[in-house]
Amino acid sequence: MKDKLLYEGKAKQVFTVADDPNLLVLSYKNDATAFNGEKKAEFQGKGRYNNLISAKVFEYLHQKGINSHFKEALNETEQLVEKTTIIPLEVVVRNVAAGSIVRRTGIEEKTIFNPPLVELFYKKDELGDPLINDEHALLLTDVTEADLVKIKKMALQVNEQLQAFFKEINLQLVDFKLEFGRNASGEIVLSDEVSPDTCRLWDIGTGEKMDKDVFREDLGDLVTVYDNILSRLEAKQ
Ligand code: C5P
Repeated sequence: MKDKLLYEGKAKQVFTVADDPNLLVLSYKNDATAFNGEKKAEFQGKGRYNNLISAKVFEYLHQKGINSHFKEALNETEQLVEKTTIIPLEVVVRNVAAGSIVRRTGIEEKTIFNPPLVELFYKKDELGDPLINDEHALLLTDVTEADLVKIKKMALQVNEQLQAFFKEINLQLVDFKLEFGRNASGEIVLSDEVSPDTCRLWDIGTGEKMDKDVFREDLGDLVTVYDNILSRLEAKQ
């Protein structure tokens, strides 16, 4: 199925698919990085957890009518996706204040955002993915104003669905990052991954952090936490 390595990112490898230029295979790596690659480590099994959790999230979103690049999980660490041209924006939705917004604005951690807050970051490692506004996005990327409206609307729909999805397994969706791409027909679809690497998830009962902050802040064993999330998701069905 997979053919040539097209691209290698911090968390995934991207392969072409023999005989179908409109498909790609994403292979999830065991590497964890934080603070724009300054902190790095490898965790046995991490790729498997992110692949399987992200697949469950995309399957759920598909059932709820949200278009994404996801086709199917191929095995424990790989998934088949539609090829998209990634729009270089990181779209962050926040329900609760945590992470960079606390550092940037002084808003107290755990402040509730109602309605949820949407932020755009320019996806450029060399610049450390800076926070940008809509006008910057129009200037720096090929999106139109209508695209931005669509992207933000989709991001908020994903938020609605994922808040319910994670609540069922006793997790509060604090915030998350999405990426969007254009498929062969030019349609904007949800791309990349949705996993505990890209979401903040707090246990509703204990408040315990159950996401990549465990690695960022040295709070415990990342693999145990990711295994716990996958077990809760598997028990849900
Ligand atoms: O760091 P910050 O608070 O802005 O992150 C907001 C959310 O976006 C977090 O859930 C974080 O895991 C995610 N994120 C990400 N990739 C980045 C930056 C943030 O998945 N490059």
